[in-house]
Formats: sequence, structure tokens, C-alpha cells
Amino acid sequence: MRRSRYFLPTLRENPAEAQIVSHRLMLRAGMIRQSSAGIYSWLPLGHRVLRKIEQVVREEMDAAGCQEILMPAIQPAELWEESGRYHDYGKEMLRITDRHERPMLFGPTHEEVVTDIFRNSVRSYRDLPQNLYQIQWKFRDELRPRFGIMRGREFYMKDNYSFDLDHAGAVRSYNKMFVAYLRTFARLGLTSIPMQAESGAIGGDYSHEFIVLADTGESAVYCDRAWLDTDPLALGIDYEADLQPVVDEWTRLYAATDDKHDPAACPVPEDALYQGRGIEVGHIFYFGTKYSKAMGATVNDPDGAEVAVEMGSYGIGVSRLAGAIIEASHDEAGIIWPEVAAPFGVGLINLRAGDAACDQACEALYERLVESGVEVLYDDRDERAGVKFAEMELIGLPWQVAIGPRGVKAGTAELKARAGGEAEALSFESVAARLIEG
Ligand code: ATP
Ligand code: MG
Repeated sequence: MRRSRYFLPTLRENPAEAQIVSHRLMLRAGMIRQSSAGIYSWLPLGHRVLRKIEQVVREEMDAAGCQEILMPAIQPAELWEESGRYHDYGKEMLRITDRHERPMLFGPTHEEVVTDIFRNSVRSYRDLPQNLYQIQWKFRDELRPRFGIMRGREFYMKDNYSFDLDHAGAVRSYNKMFVAYLRTFARLGLTSIPMQAESGAIGGDYSHEFIVLADTGESAVYCDRAWLDTDPLALGIDYEADLQPVVDEWTRLYAATDDKHDPAACPVPEDALYQGRGIEVGHIFYFGTKYSKAMGATVNDPDGAEVAVEMGSYGIGVSRLAGAIIEASHDEAGIIWPEVAAPFGVGLINLRAGDAACDQACEALYERLVESGVEVLYDDRDERAGVKFAEMELIGLPWQVAIGPRGVKAGTAELKARAGGEAEALSFESVAARLIEG
């Protein structure tokens, strides 16, 4: 992509309305714009990031055996009358009336819709287990939307729903999601810590919130410092195997949000206890037959008896993750994208646009990289070098390549990693080779 043609409305000044760094940087880097309170447009740079994050989430869901669907955003109120949640849900639900005066709503979550699909389609235990997911915009009329897309009213969520014949099956489904979540956040460069959460109907250990540590997080968290050195990607995972030992291993270390943490009962000595704040990026929940009983989602078991299916639901805040990654990875100058979520892999800077030799060298490298599948933002504008460097730092692409008159004479370009380190002068050939090999 040529910068001269790219829609990238960056801001020099910090916007007054932004209280936390991710919100400031997303506005300044031209990723998002507010439309109304808690409702945002995603501009090209932000949209690319959203798509990258979504793709990682999708790959990990698919790997864990889930199947992607897409349910309607607008739902009929009747389904929520059936589950008993229509009145309980309160003002967070955006209620709509259609032209026939039928009560509808903009989905804040999809347990009812998916249970309705299930009960109309599945009759036998032989068709279980099932696990269906979608990635879709939700609406919750939050009392205090804040921190940009971190707590929006409209936000992008991956939600999925598991259906099993019995408790043991439901625990297997829960464990798969537990592991898939650890892997998803780790692939996005985040240390996420599963914390036991309010478990509601079922009791037991079947609700975890996945929290990414960040000073600006809304939740106060306490955990064993050993969490900070863990790497879920080091494990080879076989989703067909029994994952209970893995889950046990990953719940062995202490971790709790402030509503669960009791200093008097905390098993971790003070010097080994990390106290900080965190951002909830995901939540997994096993609730048994709560919806299946209320809505009549039953199957015949092997003995021919009709039983309500055991269900769980699992959410990831896909749009919130964009902010969480920035909270975890930035410096004074701007965002530092991990490769996997970066809107482009490389920013190519022409230090003297209009100079025939510089233009030619840049164009040649740009074409070569693009042909090899590298995503490049090429700053071909007639602007001062300082302006271009500052913008590249702000938008945080993992690699910067700068080509100027001196380099062209010497046959070299300057390659620099956004995450740190000195710029290196390398031949055009070596720069291309490094970036193409990745
Ligand atoms: P919170 O306690 O933050 O309100 P929640 O318990 O309401 O979260 P869930 O219903 O479990 O959240 O939704 C799944 C995920 O969706 C959350 O873990 C979070 O990452 C994301 N999410 C929830 N509400 C919002 C919001 N208002 N804006 C952005 N993301 C959200
Ligand atoms: Mg909420």
C-alpha cells in the first residue's frame, strides 16, 4: 500500500477525551473514530488489525474442533421470554420494536438463539458433542462506556457454545476451550492468566476469566509471580487427548481477581505475589442445563430417554484485544505491534521522494516484497524524513526500512525493528531476503 493513497488520518496531538494509552494511540494512529458514545468506526489501519486478531481466534477455534456459524444480530424477544432472561437483562439490552410492533433486540449474547437452532435440529446423542462459534458485533448498552473500544457499547466478540450429553462430556468441552484460550492469547503475544470467576448455577471450578496484566486494567488482580514466566505455546496439544492434566497444571498457580481474593486465605507468600491490574479478554463458562431445560433442547440418550443437553458458553473480546495488545506493547513514540497482529509487516520509508534514484530503489524493493507476499506500507510522500519516521513509530509496524540518497549510493537500506535495537545498513538484497524469510 502506498502511503500517498492510504486513508490514514493520524493526529499529532493527544486527543483530550482519551484517558488510557491504547485509546490515545488508536485515535492518533488513525485506527478508529468515535461515532457516538461507545460506538466506533474502524478505519483501514484499525480494520486490518481487527482482521488479524480475528484470524488468530478463528484458527484456534477451528483447531479445537469448533465450527463457525453466523447468527443474526437482531433477535426476537420471544426466545428471551422462554429462557427467562428478557426482563432480567435490564437496561444493557437494546430493545427494538419492528413495524409489526414485535419486540426485538440487538443481541448482547447468543445463548437463546443457538439453543433454538440446536433444539430444532438435533435429536440424538449420536450427534453430540457439538461446538459452534461465531465472530460478530454485539451491543450492550453499558452504563459507562469508556477507554475507547475497551468498553464499548458495540463491540466485536467471538462467542461459542458447546453441547454435550452429560457432565463428563461438558467438562471435556470446557477443558478444550480453556486450552484454546491460553493458546489464542499467547499467540497474540499476551500473557493471559485464567482466574476463577463466579460460577453461577453449576458451582465448582467451571468458570474462568482470562486476564491480561496491564496497569490500566479495570480489574484488580493477584497472582503467583510464576505466572509471568509461563508459555502455553510450549505445550503440544492434542485436542483428542484428556486435557484435564493440562488444565490442572494451568490452574495450580494462584490467581484471583479482587472479588475472590482474600489476603488472609491467600496461599502465596507476599514476596511471591504479584498485585496489579488486568484486562478481561475472555470468559469461559459451563452452566449445565440452564437454557436447554428452559427452552426444551433435549436429545435421546443411548437408553432412549429424553435428556436436556449440557451446555457451556465461551467469549473472547476480539475488539477489546486490539486495545489490550497496545496496552501491553507500546512506548513513548507509539504502538509496537507483535508480528501476528500488525496491520502491515513492514514500513518502507523513502527519505527523498522525488529523487529519481531513491524512487527507483524504493519502488524496486516495494514490488519485490509485495510480490513475495510481504505486507508493506510504502511512505512515498513528499514529506520531511522526521515526519515519516515519527508516523512509522506511532503506527508501530514491526519493521522499518529507510532508503535515502546516501544509502542508494552505497547500495544499502537501513533496517530497524520497531521493538528496539539499532538500525542496520544492509544491501537491498539482504533486506529483501530478511523480510521475505520473516
Ligand atoms: P465485563 O465484566 O468486562 O463487562 P462480561 O463478563 O460482561 O465482561 P462476557 O459476557 O463474558 O463479558 O463477554 C465475553 C468477552 O467480551 C469479555 O471477556 C470481554 O473481553 C468482551 N467484552 C464484554 N463486554 C465488552 C464491552 N463492553 N466492550 C468490549 N468488549 C467487551
Ligand atoms: Mg459486561
